[in-house]
Amino acid sequence: MPHLRPTLAVFSLLATPAMAEVPLVVTDIAPVHSLVSMVMQGVGQPDLLIPAGSSPHDFSLRPSDAARLQDADLIVWIGEDLTPWLARPLSIVAEGAVNMPLIELPVTLLREGGHEHDTLDAAAHPDDDHDDHDDHDDHDEEMHGSHDPHVWLDPVNAIAWLPEIASALTRQDPQNGPLYSANAANAADMLDQLLDELAQGDLARPFIVSHDAFGYFEDRFDAHALGSIAGADASAPGPARVAALRDAAREADVRCVLVEPQFNSGLAEAVVPQGVTIRQIDAMGSDLPLGATLYPDMIRSIAAAISGCPDE
Ligand SMILES: [Zn+2]
Repeated sequence: MPHLRPTLAVFSLLATPAMAEVPLVVTDIAPVHSLVSMVMQGVGQPDLLIPAGSSPHDFSLRPSDAARLQDADLIVWIGEDLTPWLARPLSIVAEGAVNMPLIELPVTLLREGGHEHDTLDAAAHPDDDHDDHDDHDDHDEEMHGSHDPHVWLDPVNAIAWLPEIASALTRQDPQNGPLYSANAANAADMLDQLLDELAQGDLARPFIVSHDAFGYFEDRFDAHALGSIAGADASAPGPARVAALRDAAREADVRCVLVEPQFNSGLAEAVVPQGVTIRQIDAMGSDLPLGATLYPDMIRSIAAAISGCPDE
């Protein structure tokens, strides 16, 4: 079937010649969309595949998404570790686009996935010493030998990606190359200041999180969660994990549970003893306006969520 690209055809009739050269960039999640928006400021805007409020762990592409992928020139996404369901559509539908999985860039700092938390997770996996796993759906990430996919929650990674995004855009659109580079440098300076700002706060609190998404943030800012209700792939915990977590939370005197908007907060209430503070935390910036400001605002709101927990 001939590939007619109706969207592009209409676009080129309406736009000025210089504008027609702006690459069509598709991003996966709002924080990545924000970083690309910073680099494209004054030139254009990227497209967002997974809308705010949806979990990347269990999203399904709509037919309109396939059309957007087909038209894309550049796809900037976290990678297969976060959205395994996206890899195949990308290789088939978006074969004409440059594929940029950020987790695979050599500059990306990685941490191992899944089981980094100490006390509560150890208690919640009492059968981890057994070698013969045969019904452990929540251990899929281990079998893939993958990394914790929530790489965007370390601003040091975001800073490293900005010039890479600028280079990828410049290869598609050399005319705007100097602007992409300058935007990336400005954004990196801004995020450097954000790092300094957050390094001055004290985020050591006894808290648990709804799913194991914040390891990169915790490592960077010394804010270590005692555990998580769901693992890094956000699959629902079984009754044994919930029971073990509830006992361990009582034992460790956890005072605060940070729950993401996509998460079933009833589960948090089942895990924690009465009287524990339940606060909201969001790894995706779902409540924030899309665009360049989303990423720094999201990082600040995560710090604020943790520092709002009782500190003893
Ligand atoms: Zn996650």
